[in-house]
Amino acid sequence: MTAAAGRLIAGVDIGGTAIQVVLCTTELDIVARATVATPRGGDAMIDAAVGLIGELAAAQGAVVAGVGVGAAGVVDADAGQILVASDTFVDWAGFRVTAAISARLGVPAFLENDVNAFLTGEIAAGAIRGEADAVAIMLGTGVGGALWLGGRLFDGPHGAAGEIGHMPGFGDALCSCGRHGHLETVAAGRQLELRYREAGGAELRTAEIAQRAAAGEADAAGVFRTAGRAVGQAISVVSALVDVTTVVIGGGVSQAWDLLEPAIAEYLADEPPVSGLPIRIARSTLGKDAVAVGAASRVRRELGL
Ligand SMILES: [Zn+2]
Repeated sequence: MTAAAGRLIAGVDIGGTAIQVVLCTTELDIVARATVATPRGGDAMIDAAVGLIGELAAAQGAVVAGVGVGAAGVVDADAGQILVASDTFVDWAGFRVTAAISARLGVPAFLENDVNAFLTGEIAAGAIRGEADAVAIMLGTGVGGALWLGGRLFDGPHGAAGEIGHMPGFGDALCSCGRHGHLETVAAGRQLELRYREAGGAELRTAEIAQRAAAGEADAAGVFRTAGRAVGQAISVVSALVDVTTVVIGGGVSQAWDLLEPAIAEYLADEPPVSGLPIRIARSTLGKDAVAVGAASRVRRELGL
């Protein structure tokens, strides 16, 4: 029924609150998308994702060639299995995601960590298309990171490469991981809200604090400046180690781009990369679709589409 009819790729972003599904062409152009609240339990989550894929494909009159999934937590991308999941997920650690999807849909499925998928998506079809050496930073409830080096994802021997959210050296506040002073404690949404209250501010969400900062309130502007400078510091450390040329930033906190970006740039002006070359700082252009599109791009690569 549409020009896209034929073989499409499904991309799925499984998050703690919502599951986002996109159907893409093999050029990674999105032809349909849908979102559903994340149900409890691994089987229920897969049923919800597969249900949406089936509905979207039927509406397009198309066949799905394969499914890519980006999921939070530590994943075994080769085995298609969740290894470690946060407390928000029920019956998810140990879940064999790709086997469950293939059993239901009869097509190949692939699993990635969500931040790795975000970075892959922005390189394949987003803000930093075609870059060979980049780092992704997701400023959400927590802070996630991922590395792309020499034209491919680098996730390290334990899948933990690029986890800059838990890099130390940013004060002494308690981190979600139980340790102190990690980047996440100044740059994640929930933590930024805590820092604002500690500065004497009201109990507000990140977006509301951003509005106050934009209106000129000093304490509100201060927490974003601290967050932005901390992200700049993390970028400086990463570039000193692996010489990345490009950074892509996403996640809910990055909605306050006009507050964050100047502080990141300010830090990098104070501490320029040893290469002497500027680092490109880009805001995600795929937004809420980035993880799903990145997961779909893995399917394209694996299946040679
Ligand atoms: Zn931590």
